Amino acid sequence: MTVDSAMVGKAYLFIISAPSGAGKTTLCKALRKAFPRLVYSVSATTRCPRPGERDGRDYLFVSRQEFRQGIETGAWAEWAEVHGNYYGTPAAPIDKALAEGRSVLLDIDVQGARQLLERYPEAVTIFIMPPDLATLEKRLAGRGTDSPEVIARRLENARREIEQKDFYRHVIVNDNLEQTVSRLVGLVGGYLSQADSSSK
Ligand code: ADP
Ligand code: 5GP
Repeated sequence: MTVDSAMVGKAYLFIISAPSGAGKTTLCKALRKAFPRLVYSVSATTRCPRPGERDGRDYLFVSRQEFRQGIETGAWAEWAEVHGNYYGTPAAPIDKALAEGRSVLLDIDVQGARQLLERYPEAVTIFIMPPDLATLEKRLAGRGTDSPEVIARRLENARREIEQKDFYRHVIVNDNLEQTVSRLVGLVGGYLSQADSSSK
């Protein structure tokens, strides 16, 4: 697929997935800083906020009942149960951004990425790999936000997620952070410059 045919209207939908702890949140923050016009899709989740996370900015923190209501009303463009909690992508803000010709960035898991590709087959999918599982475990422990049981569950899921990396259009190994940010900014920037030139 060419850069051009990856467009949804006049914009791009970037889907970033990675095993938990591989650095998605850190990398998405860097992308948002580099491209302030990129619309970040704020997911809804039933998990508890981590220290420093803010409702409406990092996630929409909802109850399980609210989440189930969203399923019934079709509020989620995709949803999945990850690590025992529900996560979903609100459909309305994505459709609004794309209709306005603004590109969107999503940080979602592998199951969600597969569902969204059915809705938006043109989406640009990017998989972030940890250098290896031992490093992933160290990063999860170093982040200091998850209990040993939660870390064990996330590592088990990581193995399964990495097996599915080949269905992503781009795979980037997050070894040295600075280098990864620069590769990712280069990749996304390449697509966005295409969107800019097509809207002129
Ligand atoms: P995710 O969102 O994928 O779960 P985070 O962005 O929270 O991952 O990163 C997990 C931890 O690893 C954080 O403490 C983060 O600062 C650290 N980290 C991210 N990328 C790197 C890297 N390239 N080298 C070392 N540490 C990293
Ligand atoms: P965390 O709890 O570490 O923030 O996220 C756990 C996992 O849920 C990550 O793999 C993340 O990409 C995924 N996730 C976050 N938001 C969504 C979403 O809206 N939908 C889906 N399917 N996965 C999500």
